[in-house]
Amino acid sequence: MKRIYLDYAASTPVDEEVLKAMLPYFSETYGNPSSVHAFGQDAQSAVDTARAKTAAALGCLSQEIIFTGSATEANNLALIGVAEEALKKRKNIHIISSRVEHESVLEPLSYLEKERGASVTYLPVTSGGFVRPEDVQNALREDTALVSIMYANNEVGTIQPIAEIANVIRAHNKKFRVFFHTDAAQAASYLPLAVAQLGVDLMTLSGHKMYGPKGVGALYIKKGTPVAPLVHGGGQEYGKRSGTENVPAVVGFAAALERAVAHREEAAGQAEALRNYFIAQITARIPDTRLNGSRENRLPNNANILFPGANAAELIVALDMEGIAVSAGSACQSKALAESHVLSAIGLSKKDAKSSLRFSFGNYTTKEDLDAVLDILVKLEKKFRVK
Ligand code: PLP
Repeated sequence: MKRIYLDYAASTPVDEEVLKAMLPYFSETYGNPSSVHAFGQDAQSAVDTARAKTAAALGCLSQEIIFTGSATEANNLALIGVAEEALKKRKNIHIISSRVEHESVLEPLSYLEKERGASVTYLPVTSGGFVRPEDVQNALREDTALVSIMYANNEVGTIQPIAEIANVIRAHNKKFRVFFHTDAAQAASYLPLAVAQLGVDLMTLSGHKMYGPKGVGALYIKKGTPVAPLVHGGGQEYGKRSGTENVPAVVGFAAALERAVAHREEAAGQAEALRNYFIAQITARIPDTRLNGSRENRLPNNANILFPGANAAELIVALDMEGIAVSAGSACQSKALAESHVLSAIGLSKKDAKSSLRFSFGNYTTKEDLDAVLDILVKLEKKFRVK
């Protein structure tokens, strides 16, 4: 049985060139970057190069890049780090975010509410999944310390108007200093990442969403943005994230990002063509199916499809038995198929949210794969449609 992977939003395979770049740093150049001798210097030089490449991809300074163990950690560092610094100056802080953020943003926010007394506004989104900049404007308060709005959504692929939101914040900043964070974990392969154009103060990236290794992420922190560290120790990563750097992972992260930036347009064009074909075919061949979220301003590799009346959990298992990998909701959340907070936020009923599947395409997806998946879906979907 040929296995077909349509879950690139959950994770991507490590690109061959990226793997090649990483390999020497496991057992040839293995020194500790903090050691003073030549072994250490070689490792430090690899980390420095990776940081410079990452900075070049984002159009920022090397010192503004902090490598972390994941995008989850980068999001925690951004949110809790900025909040803790703000709490040193005043007792009450307010944070603005949205209802469609990833759990790695929502959970630290919940921690800040419960344990640190922060007040958080979770902005609603439109039926397309968009945060309205005017809602951000209306939510900004004198005590707002931070706004965190994701760049692209992991479930329905919505691309948020980050630069417009940044403008709203900039205007408010004339009186009160508010920092703007975006989680760009899903954006790296397909969207522009220049932080100055986006107008953000902090930005999160993940290695394994862009054909790099798992267990590595990065946080861009604009110079002058106060961020308290979460991990204390030897003072690595400019004191913001102690712990010996994961040299092969950091090298792989930078190689993947460099590759993503170089191939962005080509990758986006290819994914979009496949995605549009898939949506057109599925809606033509399976009655009543429809696309969840917006067609415009959507990640080119995401199709989240509602199969009315079908049980998505059962459909996923049945597809898996046919060798096809797709997911419902956010795969990173857990294996359990909890109801999707994103689909609820864009207005789907509980029933429809549980009848929706996310198909995400990538560099190795072919039209033949999609035709095979469509044939199997047509066959299976009838079986799982609850009358
Ligand atoms: N943010 C978004 C939007 C994601 O999609 C994910 C993973 O699914 C993460 C953060 C977490 O990334 P990581 O697995 O690197 O912690």
